[in-house]
Formats: sequence, structure tokens, C-alpha cells
Amino acid sequence: MRSQDYDRLYLSPPHLGRHELNYVHKAIEDNWVAPAGPNLAGFEADICAATGAGYCVALTSGTAAIHLGLLLLGVEPGDEVLCPSFTFVATANPILYCGATPVFVDSEAATWNICPDRLREALADRIAQGKKPKALILVHLYGMPARLPEILAIADEYAVPVLEDAAEALGARFRNQPLGSFGTVGVFSFNGNKILTTSGGGALVTNDAALAQKALFLATQAKDEAPHYQHSEVGYNYRLSNILAGIGRGQMELLEARVKRRREIFAWYQEHLAGRPGLTVALAPEPAGSHSNRWLTTILLNPAATSATPETLRQHLETRNIESRPLWKPLHLQPLFETTPMYGGQVGADLFARGLCLPSGSAMTEADLRRVAEAVRQGLGQ
Ligand SMILES: *Cc1c(COP(=O)(O)O)cnc(C)c1O
Repeated sequence: MRSQDYDRLYLSPPHLGRHELNYVHKAIEDNWVAPAGPNLAGFEADICAATGAGYCVALTSGTAAIHLGLLLLGVEPGDEVLCPSFTFVATANPILYCGATPVFVDSEAATWNICPDRLREALADRIAQGKKPKALILVHLYGMPARLPEILAIADEYAVPVLEDAAEALGARFRNQPLGSFGTVGVFSFNGNKILTTSGGGALVTNDAALAQKALFLATQAKDEAPHYQHSEVGYNYRLSNILAGIGRGQMELLEARVKRRREIFAWYQEHLAGRPGLTVALAPEPAGSHSNRWLTTILLNPAATSATPETLRQHLETRNIESRPLWKPLHLQPLFETTPMYGGQVGADLFARGLCLPSGSAMTEADLRRVAEAVRQGLGQ
């Protein structure tokens, strides 16, 4: 971050600890400056320990992990893949990389994640049209667990494998089980704005040894067993650098502390902004069994009670050098997906129209939080 921006409050900037540099230093000292080396195994072991997954493959990004995950689940050109509409585009782009088509499903109000009723409707309708979706991508947006029991029951009933996009949900739990460990394949992101970061990076987790082995094979150009370079299928260059894995090892030591701080920040906003006419800090309370990592604190404005809109508020915060951001714009409203099938749509559209993400970085101080709360109060004209 540039020095003249010293007083800018970012939405979710990197927050490093004291040990990342040790791992990076050691990697350079030992000349493991490659997409191979001891930090990769160490980082993967840390992710397995934190998530309870049997196997982990560290990759260049969460997007790459979703792409490989879909390939592992057998997604091929012409297939359909169920996917929430209310999510970041990186959830759905890998469906297109596979030559497949997304089938979008609306969210539900209690978790903002995929609605079990709409999901059942979508599945029944696609099957009635003669085509069963090949996979379901399940997202836990802003770190909030989706309705896992209902969704997993439907996926089970229709025998549709689940890819869990837990890019925003590292460290979150449902009934004490870490998110990312519920699907056949789970995906995490270590992009610069996530709860932990390697600057850019991702991981694929699974309990299936063969799938993990296949993911590593595909991520390293799909080299067959041979002394020379021999290839029978399309491969990718998706393996994480050992340098970045070193940053990841330092970051993983901090996971619990970072989740705790993000949850404190959410609670602080809730306490200090609650009661402002027209504003709700969402989602609270957490649905039973859920333990969100509160990656970003989000607010909803009620147009019946305030003339401020997310955009006027965002612009006001910008005048105070505070970064904020609208909620994800639903994918069924994106030009890229104009002709994509969609089931429901009003819930995601309404959230987008009314919501804003506030600065939520785990390094924020009490003074930073007060500065945001004061700017929000002014932005609401209160
Ligand atoms: C960040 C994110 C991704 C993609 O992760 P990258 O590491 O940035 O490629 C995928 N899905 C969701 C929901 C995300 O927020």
C-alpha cells in the first residue's frame, strides 16, 4: 500500500505476523525458489490440520482450485453445473473454462447462500428437461455457512457431487466442523483480501487420496510416468510457489486469532451501529450451529427508513478515505451471463440493491472502527 495512503482504511488488507519472513528467508537460503519445496508440504499439512481434510494441494489461486475441482468431479464440455447467483464471479468462471454451463440458483435470506427450495426446483426442472447437472458448487459467502444439512440432503438424494467454494470461509465452522470439509472437494483462497493471504494463492482439499493425486497431476502439466516429457491429457500450471507457501505457513499460525478478531470487529459494528434508523448490521444473530469467520462486516439499508443508498454511503466514506464495497452483484444480472438459466433471483437482487461491505481487516484498531462508524453516521445524515 502506497505511503501517501497511510490514513486510508481498506476493506480487507493483508495482515501479516512475525513468522512469514522466516519461512520465506529459509526458502531463499535453501534455494527452494520454485513451485516445489518443503514449504508446500508444510503449508498443506497446516491446512489439513486446520480443516480436518485428509489431503490438500496448494495452488496458484482459489479460481484454479475451483477449475481443477470441477475437472475432478468429471465436468465436461456441454455439462451443466449448479451454482449460486449471489457470489463473486470467480465461483462461476471455472464452469466456463470447462466448456460447461452454469445453472444459477437464488439465495435465501437467513444465510444469503443458495436456497434449498430453489435448488430442489432447479434440479427437478433440469432433470425434467432431460439433463441432470453434473455438480453443485456450494458457496459460504462472507464466511457464513450455507444451509448445509438441507443442501447436502438434496445433493445426496439426487447423487450430485458437491464442490465447496470456501474461498471466503477459512476458519468458519458449522456444528463445529470446519467449512471446506463438507463436499467431495473443498476450495480455499489466499488472495490478498482474504482472511489469510499468500498475496495470491489457493488450495484444494479432499478426503479422497486418488482425487488429491489427480489434482496435483493436473496442476503440474499432467506429466505421465516417463524419463522424458510424456503427456496423454491436458495439464495446467497451477502449482503454488514454495516462496508463497512460506508466507502461507506463517499465516496459518494466525488463523484462530484472525477469526477471533474479525468476529470482534463484526460485534463492535453491531453494537455501535445498531439502532441507526434504516441500517442493519447483517447477518445477526448467526443461524443455529453456524460459526462465521465474519470475513467482511456487511450492512443493509432499508429504503423505507433512510434516503441514503449503498452508493451515496460508499461515496461519502470515500471522501473520508475509507474504502467500502457493494455486496456481490448477482451473476444472473451480469452481461457475461445474460443467457444463463436462473431459478429465482429476487433475493440476491434485493441484497445487492441494499447492501454494503465495511472495512473489516483484522489489523483495525478501535480508533479505525470509530472513524468508520462516525463516517457512516454522517453518510446517513444522522
Ligand atoms: C476470492 C474468491 C474466489 C477466488 O479466489 P482467488 O484466489 O481470488 O482466485 C472464489 N470464490 C469466492 C466466493 C471468492 O470470494
